[in-house]
Amino acid sequence: MNIAENIDQLQQELAPSGCKLIAVSKTKPVSTLMEAYEAGVRDFGENKVQELVSKYEQMPKDIRWHMIGHLQRNKVKYIAPFVHLIHSVDSIRLLEEINKQGAKHHRTISCLLQAHIAEEESKFGFSDEEFFQLIRDETIQHLKYVQIIGVMGMASFTPNEAKVRQEFEHLKLLFEALKHNDDLPDQIRMEEISMGMSGDYRIAIEEGSTMVRIGTTIFGERNYQQ
Ligand SMILES: *Cc1c(COP(=O)(O)O)cnc(C)c1O
Repeated sequence: MNIAENIDQLQQELAPSGCKLIAVSKTKPVSTLMEAYEAGVRDFGENKVQELVSKYEQMPKDIRWHMIGHLQRNKVKYIAPFVHLIHSVDSIRLLEEINKQGAKHHRTISCLLQAHIAEEESKFGFSDEEFFQLIRDETIQHLKYVQIIGVMGMASFTPNEAKVRQEFEHLKLLFEALKHNDDLPDQIRMEEISMGMSGDYRIAIEEGSTMVRIGTTIFGERNYQQ
């Protein structure tokens, strides 16, 4: 596995669309992340709070850390001082806690709202209906330390490319509908669509992704036994 080469190849593929690369480094040791850092990567994604904090502490301070996994409210406090973007916001109560912790640290925390676009039951996120309820919810207007800058979604895990494409297309349409909604509160600005992983990022880019979250294609298979 030549990490620098993998990154270089991905950057070339992403260049025409301007889509950003988030290197998903979960389960990988800091020495491996440093190889990606040396190759120019500054955006890293992790899905567990403890691992994210530990890597943040050990690595250079110009890295932008992305929280991409399900986030429990009682753990927001650990990442609030430094996290660059939380991709996986799936409830208003979580947004309220992010706001509270943002206030404590005098920083506005950028977030994406996770959309439930896959068929699988296990995937978190808002339904379309819940999205339109959320933007009308007055609670949002009081969250001065939260900035919602877009949406995130995960397609079904299936070899059926047409299905994956349809799910990404759906997310893009939802994004556009929200973006052109006249009553968006100041806390919501639709700029980013985080979609696409190792298995489906090419389809995601074609469907308008602005951020792909890629692990395996950069770092190789993950070993969860360690
Ligand atoms: C692990 C993970 C990824 C990266 O998956 P790969 O298939 O290794 O590229 C992307 N997004 C989320 C939310 C993940 O948990």
